[in-house]
Parts: sequence; structure tokens; C-alpha cells
Amino acid sequence: MKRRLFLASGAAIAAVAAHQLLKSNETAIAQNRVLNLYSARHYDSDNAIYEGFTKKTGIRVNLVEADADKLIERIKSEGANSPADVLLTVDAGRLWRAQQENLLQPVQSSTLTAAIPASLREPGGHWFGFTRRARVIVYNKDRVKPSDLSTYEDLANPKWKGRIVVRSSSHVYNQSLAGALLAKHSPQKVEEWARGLVANFARPPEGNDTAQIKAVAAGQGDLTIVNTYYVVRLAKSNKPEDKEIASKVGVFFPNQNEQGTHVNISGGGVVRTAPNRDAAVQFLEYLASPEAQAIFAASNNEYPAVKGAKVDEVLLSYGKTFKEDPLNAAVFGKNNADALKLMDRAGWK
Ligand code: FE
Repeated sequence: MKRRLFLASGAAIAAVAAHQLLKSNETAIAQNRVLNLYSARHYDSDNAIYEGFTKKTGIRVNLVEADADKLIERIKSEGANSPADVLLTVDAGRLWRAQQENLLQPVQSSTLTAAIPASLREPGGHWFGFTRRARVIVYNKDRVKPSDLSTYEDLANPKWKGRIVVRSSSHVYNQSLAGALLAKHSPQKVEEWARGLVANFARPPEGNDTAQIKAVAAGQGDLTIVNTYYVVRLAKSNKPEDKEIASKVGVFFPNQNEQGTHVNISGGGVVRTAPNRDAAVQFLEYLASPEAQAIFAASNNEYPAVKGAKVDEVLLSYGKTFKEDPLNAAVFGKNNADALKLMDRAGWK
């Protein structure tokens, strides 16, 4: 009896011990699960998203930050041994390029297809948009009446001669805009448009979108084409001179009586050779969640991709609703190269 009891308790102890071992193994595995994120984003607030993801899934996020072209080059040179699981960057043009380089793999996720509008994701699931950025007309309020403005196409009208400043055609944002026009008009017509636009330039292209807004506020040009978040950034700045610049300009959403304003994305996809594929898909799904969406969009004053997620108040003050061009981001991403060629021919430096 004594012996049997001893045996029984021995077995119980062994069972408990085995269970403990299993549990600690599971914890160890969970703690060892990682996601290697290659991101061209560099916002402190993104850290809150990574922490939220780790809290929810137990998966640690290893972050590699660099500009998009460097990250794409790095994944290419690392080849089959690349630790990269997810590539995050801005502009459909760049995501398209990564896809063309065969760096991304298709993902089928009902969570992602339900949350992200169809126009903001690549139809094959190679990449998904997590924020929306509208490319709008920003004008000097003393020199331009909103009623004078209508469409991107109208900016080639000679009435704007010597009044337009815009950044270089070498920048992907303008290539995507011209790429979107290529989906609507013949290449000849878009080239004609680019020629007309160039003829209306107040100066040769220089500087980034912020520099264009500053030039418009200073009266070096009457209007420009920029992404909304650059205006919001100036309006929210702690520097009085930035606020002053923002107060001098207005935001106009073009093509409202037509197909809508050009909307680009920031987004990402799962790397083709991802060693942690499941974690990568989980991460993209997490980015589409309401809590991540609010932080992700707010960090750069963008519109969330997921409808119903919270939108920044200052951004909203420039337009509560506007009609968006429903053109799929993959279409203008793909058109980038052709767009650049015709902008070149039109003399858009
Ligand atoms: Fe930008």
C-alpha cells in the first residue's frame, strides 16, 4: 500500500514535471518567436504598434530601418538567406518595384481583404496599403480662389503660366500621379499635359513637398501639388514660422466632379523568403486592426486605410470628406516607369 502510494505520487510528480517542462517550452518558443521587419518608416509612435503586436502575439519585432531603395537592395543582396519577413514602405510605385524584383510573396488573408479596400491592395496579395495619402493642390490664399481650381488636368491650362511650383519628376509621388493619369488618358494626352504643366512652372523643380508649400506661402508660386500630410505637419509644428506658412495656404481636392483625387498608400508585404511567414502575416493583419490603424495613420498625419478608423483632427479640418480616385494602386504603381519617361520627354526635370 505504501509502495503503491509512492508509485502513484511518483507518477503524479512526473506528470506535473512533464507538464511544467512543456509549459516552459511553449513560453520559450513564444518568446523566441520573432518578426524581422524592414521598414522605411521612422516614426517614434510606430514603436507603440510593435509593442502592441508583441503583447498580443508574444512575437518580438526586430526592426531594420533604412530608406526604401536601400531596403530593397539589401533584401536582394541577402538573397535566400535574408532574415527579412516584412517590407514596409511608402508609395505603390516602390511596392510595385519590390514585387517586380520578385521580393514579395502573395498572401491570402480574409482579415486583410475584409479590412483593406480593394483599391489599396495589390490584387494578387503581394502588398497591402495601411494608410492613404491624398495628393492635392495647395494654393496661396491671397493669389488663388478655390473656384479657379478644378482638376490636375487643368493645371496645364495657360492661365497658370509662371504660377506653379512642384518637386522633381524623379520623385516617386509625381510618377504615381502621372501613372494614375495614364490609366485615364492616352500616353500622348498625358505627355501633352506634362508639357503644359512644365510651361506653367514658376521655377525649375527643386526641393521636397514641404519646400513647395513654403515657396507657395512666400509667393514664389501660386500653387503646388503635394501630399496632404505635409501641410498638416506644418500646421501642427511648434515653430511659429511653420504655422504661419500653413495659415497662408489652402488645400484643394482636385477632380471631385470626375473620378476623384489621386490617393497613394504606405504599405507592405511579406518577403518571398520570409523565415517567419506566419508571424509576418499576423503582423500585417495586426496593422489592419483598429488600434494599430489609428496609431499608424496618425504618426504621419495620414488617412487610415481601414474605413472607420480614427482620423487626425487637423487633417480632417482640411476636408472631412472627399471623393477618392478608386483606381487600384497597383495600376499606377505599374505605370510609374512609363510616367517617368513621358515626364522626361516633356521637360519635367
Ligand atoms: Fe512623404
